[in-house]
Amino acid sequence: TTSILWFRRDLRLNDHPALLAAVDSASHVLPVFVLDPRLLEHETPRTRRLLASVASLSKDTRGALVVRRGDPVEVIPKLAKQVGATQVHVSRETTPYGRRRDEAVEKALADDGRELVATGTPYAVGPGRIVNQSGSPYKVFTPFSKAWHQHGRPAPADRPKRIPWLRDEVHSDPLPKTPSGIEAGEAAALKRWESFLRDGLTAYDRERDRPDLDTTSRLSAPLKYGEIHPRTILADIAAHSAGRSQAANTYVTELIWREFYADVLWHQPDSAWHDLRGELAKLPYDSGAETDRLVDAWREGRTGYPIVDAGMRQLLEEGWMHNRVRMITASFLTKDLHVWWPVGAQHFLDHLIDGDIASNNHGWQWVAGTGTDASPYFRVFNPVTQGKKFDPDGEYVRRWVPELRHLKGSAAHEPWKHDNGYDEKYPQPVVDHDDERKETLARYERARR
Ligand code: FAD
Repeated sequence: TTSILWFRRDLRLNDHPALLAAVDSASHVLPVFVLDPRLLEHETPRTRRLLASVASLSKDTRGALVVRRGDPVEVIPKLAKQVGATQVHVSRETTPYGRRRDEAVEKALADDGRELVATGTPYAVGPGRIVNQSGSPYKVFTPFSKAWHQHGRPAPADRPKRIPWLRDEVHSDPLPKTPSGIEAGEAAALKRWESFLRDGLTAYDRERDRPDLDTTSRLSAPLKYGEIHPRTILADIAAHSAGRSQAANTYVTELIWREFYADVLWHQPDSAWHDLRGELAKLPYDSGAETDRLVDAWREGRTGYPIVDAGMRQLLEEGWMHNRVRMITASFLTKDLHVWWPVGAQHFLDHLIDGDIASNNHGWQWVAGTGTDASPYFRVFNPVTQGKKFDPDGEYVRRWVPELRHLKGSAAHEPWKHDNGYDEKYPQPVVDHDDERKETLARYERARR
């Protein structure tokens, strides 16, 4: 007998409940990845990162992984029929597109007498499971987080001792080539996590807000593709001597934000691209040729605000940006340039290797003040004071903005204060932050009335 294991956001073999379920269900397991044109239509850093991870998984299955290009609603039932699989095992998908797709695949399989079996999710507590006493979802993070801590969580699942991969002659489409040197795959994720647990965790609460120091775990992409499961991380933290420290608590809280946003998306799929807070829906945003010019300056890191430009250039070059700088750059687009947050959310998704519809789009709504439990609407990040506070020596700015490398220390945050500030042709600020802050507050006040 054969079962299919259809990999999606779970590109690993350890701590994989759906893999265990597949192994238990049949004498052989056919591992499959579908190149869904809907998700891979445009090549982006994220799709390249994903494909590098699939290539690594293929090696981990010793070449048993079958890759098929096409719409999963057609590909999966056809393959199940071809290999005589009555069950297709998956980790439950929780995003709007993933849910729609899986419902359609489930129906197509059922029409042919076959079954889609979902076990586990990419989260420690599956989205939709945590509700308050009246059965409603939590809208505010802190009570969600308390309930999350009280909710039971299974221990990490053991890797099966032997995985009987099916090695029949099943046609596999070639994987598109990815540039070499992309860090991806389960072994790299586990190595990164172990090194952070050993060397980085204890300083996390003190240093996590400093973009100039490389002190966060950089596990967002591995978590995104399921190369490591948060359950593994939580179990390792609980077993580690630093597990009860303030630093460990802070780290766990960040993981819970990831779970919270997935939960919000589960309950309100529209929240991916629509304002959650209706009272701000009337907020007027700018558009037109002049705004397009400003948005281009933002995208390319030419706003004349050093920390904003450093972040936007890091995004383009590395496909990653520090969390503090994601907040500062998102605030700049929405509150200094008065542009609706989905414009920025799309740009981030086009360039981030960890681009994730729940964390990204709700992160944007948090900054814009439109989300559930968002930052208060009147909070406007000041790019200069934020820069001086979180990049005190200007190291981060100089790393990404060569035109400011001649300015020493925190002078890099304020070229306008120095005679030689513009010697290397750094642009002047495209807007005046104090004026735009006042304009934002006035717009918010009018919209709330
Ligand atoms: P660490 O500080 O080491 O945190 C550990 C893990 O906790 C992260 O890997 C991540 O999975 C989770 N996490 C941390 N902070 C957050 C948060 N605020 N929200 C949700 N999860 C969090 N994260 C993404 O994974 N994908 C995105 O597309 C994304 N877009 C964002 C857009 C904006 C505007 C903002 C403000 C935040 C966004 N984040 C996103 C959250 C956060 O910035 C990144 O998870 C973090 O910077 C990744 O680096 P790290 O792994 O070193 O984080």
